[in-house]
Amino acid sequence: MTHGPRRYVLSAGLLALALAGAGAAQSARTDVDVTALSNELSVRRALNGVRRTESDTIREQIRICEVPAPPFGEAPRARLYANAMREVGLANVRIDAAGNVLGERRGRAQRPHLVLSAHLDTVFPADTTVKVRREGAVLRGPGIGDDCRGLAVILAVARAMRDTGVQTEGSITFVGTVGEEGLGDLRGVKALFHETLKGKVDRFISVDGDGYSLTNVGVGSRRYRVTYRGPGGHSYDDFGRASPVSALGLSVAAISRIEVPATPRTTRNVGRVGGGTSINAIPGDAWMEIDLRSSDEDALSNLDAKVKAAIQEALEVENGRRKRDDPLILMVEPVGNRPAGRTAVATPMVRTAAAVLKTLGLPARFDEGSTDANLPMSIGIPSLTVGGGGSGRDAHSPRESFDTTDSWKGTQMVTLLAIALAR
Ligand SMILES: [Zn+2]
Repeated sequence: MTHGPRRYVLSAGLLALALAGAGAAQSARTDVDVTALSNELSVRRALNGVRRTESDTIREQIRICEVPAPPFGEAPRARLYANAMREVGLANVRIDAAGNVLGERRGRAQRPHLVLSAHLDTVFPADTTVKVRREGAVLRGPGIGDDCRGLAVILAVARAMRDTGVQTEGSITFVGTVGEEGLGDLRGVKALFHETLKGKVDRFISVDGDGYSLTNVGVGSRRYRVTYRGPGGHSYDDFGRASPVSALGLSVAAISRIEVPATPRTTRNVGRVGGGTSINAIPGDAWMEIDLRSSDEDALSNLDAKVKAAIQEALEVENGRRKRDDPLILMVEPVGNRPAGRTAVATPMVRTAAAVLKTLGLPARFDEGSTDANLPMSIGIPSLTVGGGGSGRDAHSPRESFDTTDSWKGTQMVTLLAIALAR
């Protein structure tokens, strides 16, 4: 997962709103009495079961993590994960065209259909050492929290549901997705919702990383590589020709003057620039990489349009004031598109999740981030990303570690949430 900059704890009023109806009222079809649910015999057995077998879950977390899953190289881990899904009794285990692994647990009916997911990929290149070391309660290894934790937790949920015969009205599809991180650009979850399970999913939970926070705001991003290109030439002999670096400079200056709203938080960054070949040559090209983000899709689109207009205007200005014979050309190449979205605090799904945390004695801490849940949020499917418990450090770094102290609480949280959302 890539975190947004801010975490927040619900105010007492909002929390009361989030919990209203989750306790007893049946104000919405999808509200479940979570406290009563947690006291049902089979559910109690499942919750006790995942606590008792947490050491197995941790072993599984290590086993999964010692199979590399670099960006665009998830296949070996996907094969291992498919076998693990079969071992915990999931049905119709398969790998889709994008490389996502899917396994099913049917309820009494097909719907409501919950997808419970975690991501297979890491940010680490193929030659990274993925051996996991244990130091007391702490596990060290790249990807051990993000997201080997999520992958292990959802398997534990499937195993506990099988072993205790928990009944659900709806069905659950367990998924290991590809392409969540960075340049993967959510390609796994995009394929899941646009092709593999198109129109068939009612709710989506991604278990990503550590802790117990609920990510209900999906920060969207659009990324571009922008190139101005021209004939170039001698700095003295060909003086007067349009310059790609001049156009780039004009556009960077214009982009830096674009106003962005503080709420919804919206940001712009020109992260890299380059171009030219020599101090005494008019450059043949100049390029930049731009990252635009917002927690609101309209604000993001608005910023996107302004940035593109600035880039185009810089081209016209530079071409307009130079010799007309060899104008610059412009290329704008999209290199990332993560839609923004949110699942409102007052929706039954968030109320249910808040009630699960309360029932288990955990604080309701809300978060924004850029995760697999962005995609279903953006098309109106109630979605959350939740932590898998424990406590992680240095995600996306080879020093990544995961402290397993009381991590069973995360497994319990996801188990109770999955059962509640499949009711
Ligand atoms: Zn992640």
